[in-house]
Parts: sequence; structure tokens; C-alpha cells
Amino acid sequence: MEPLVFEPLLKRIRWGGRLLGEVLDKPIGAESDYAESWEIADQPNDQTVVATGKFAGQTLHEVLQAVPEQLLGRQTHLTQFPLLIKFLDANDWLSLQVHPDDSQALAYAENGRGKTEAWIILHAEPDSQICAGLKPGTDRSEFEAALSEGRVEQTLNMIPARAGDCVFVPARTVHALGPGILLAEIQQQSNITFRLHDWGRMGADGQPRELHIEQSLQCIDFEAGPVAPVSAVELSDGTHHFEELVRCDYFVIRRHQAIDEFSLALNDRFRILMVMEGRAVIRTSGGQVTLGKGRTTLIPAAAGTVHILPEGNTTLLEVLHP
Ligand SMILES: [Zn+2]
Repeated sequence: MEPLVFEPLLKRIRWGGRLLGEVLDKPIGAESDYAESWEIADQPNDQTVVATGKFAGQTLHEVLQAVPEQLLGRQTHLTQFPLLIKFLDANDWLSLQVHPDDSQALAYAENGRGKTEAWIILHAEPDSQICAGLKPGTDRSEFEAALSEGRVEQTLNMIPARAGDCVFVPARTVHALGPGILLAEIQQQSNITFRLHDWGRMGADGQPRELHIEQSLQCIDFEAGPVAPVSAVELSDGTHHFEELVRCDYFVIRRHQAIDEFSLALNDRFRILMVMEGRAVIRTSGGQVTLGKGRTTLIPAAAGTVHILPEGNTTLLEVLHP
């Protein structure tokens, strides 16, 4: 089975911009509000569709149902693809938000999943900022008071956004992205978001967007405190060196920076590869694809081994479901 490449699902939201087209070569139109490019999605109303090859025209969910063993290998029991993969262009503040964890999500949706996510920053303006968690010692009563008195900013842990940084945001963490940031987002396949604050802005209809204060307060882990960019762990398979950025219950993210060919043994699990910089040929026994910056592929578990042939200095993210 060949590497799968999907047509991206482009989402226009008022905080978006034009970088998805200008930097990542996504097929955007004339508008200036392209916010998200969903690269791999298996949601009830949002399915990425295979672009080329034997499975062209099929949704991710259809492929998963047609060839579960080949796609998922030892994880054949999964009935929905477990990860949601996006690129995001934040050209304004996103709303301040929080996601439930798995057990909390069940209270809001049948078979609901939590959302733990991670951001890998491709580009950031010099003064770009991210809200990642709460300042140390912020308890529920202080946070609630700050929110109702219009001074919630005082409780938020703000960190600078820098290209190359990875920020890991566990479910139940208060977070927001500021303007001037282009990033890759790896997250659980979930769409449950509770908005806490929208910086006083109005929606497209001239009304403030709906907030979910009570649900948010129930979700937030007030013990977790601030979040900092991750410290990468340097690893090697003997000849090829790479970094492990995140390892959690839901996903593992590794970063490969290479000029020379290298291989990945899949161990009967699918892989997602995202090209962050440069260009590479991705070759398996089932076929090959050539991907430039901003492109994503899903390698089925049955591929066995993946050979990656960079065309010049290339940076790739490798994502797997543990
Ligand atoms: Zn989020």
C-alpha cells in the first residue's frame, strides 16, 4: 500500500491570514482569512480525501474501513483515525480556550474524546506570543475573579513564540495563540473546545461569540501551572540522529533534520510525515511520493520500512500513535 496524500481542508476563520498559501503552497483564494489547513482528519463532518493513487477520492474514514489491517497494523482495533493534523496561520489572537480530557469529554459528547495537542512553530514574528497555561499559584477563585473583572490577562502564562520551538499543551490547559505565528498542530481527533474569553471582539454577525465559562472552569487543571517549550531529547538509531519532541499517551513527535538518506522501521504502526523545510522523496515498497515544504503524508503500517531521500537540507516531523 502506497503513502497516502490527502487534499487539504482549508478553513477560513477571521483570525487567519495568507501564509498557508504564501509559505506552505496551499491552494488559497484571494481572501486574507485562511486560518487552518487540515492535513489529516477523520471527523463526522470533516474528512480529508485521498488526492492520488489507488485510493484517490476516498475519505480517510473509508480507507480505514476498507483496509484496517494495512493502514493501522497492530492498532486495527481503532474505529476512527486517532490523530488530527493541521497547519495553522494565526494572524490575530485566537480565543482563550481549553479542551477537556478523555474522561471529561464523555460528559459532553457520546464517544467524545479529549484533546491534548502540540504545536511546532514554523515561523514567528519577533514579538509573537503564546498563552500556555496559568501563572503559578492561580487557583480557581482567583482565575474566576480575574475573568469576571476583565483582567484575565494578569493570570495567563505568556511565552514568546520562536521558530523551531515545540509547545506541548495537555488537555485541561488554558491556551491561546497570538498573531504572527505559523505552525504545525498535532492533536487528538477531537473537536471539543470551550471558549473562556474572546478579547472583547465581535463575531461576523456583530455579536460577541459564545463563551463556555462554566464548562471551561470545570475542565481546567488549576494544579498544572505554566507550560514551557519542550526540551528535545536527542536520539540515534546508530547512524541517523534525530530529536524526540513529545511522547505522551496519544502521540509521539520526532524531528528529523537530514541531507542524507535515512530509513524508518514502522514496527506495524502507521506514520505521519510532515515536511517543515526542504523537500524529500518518501519511498516504500508500495510506492513513493515527493513532498515539498508544507506537505503531509500518511504511511500505512503495512509499508514496513520507509526510506526518506532528502533533496538538500530537509526537516521532517514524524508522528506516530504509541
Ligand atoms: Zn486548542
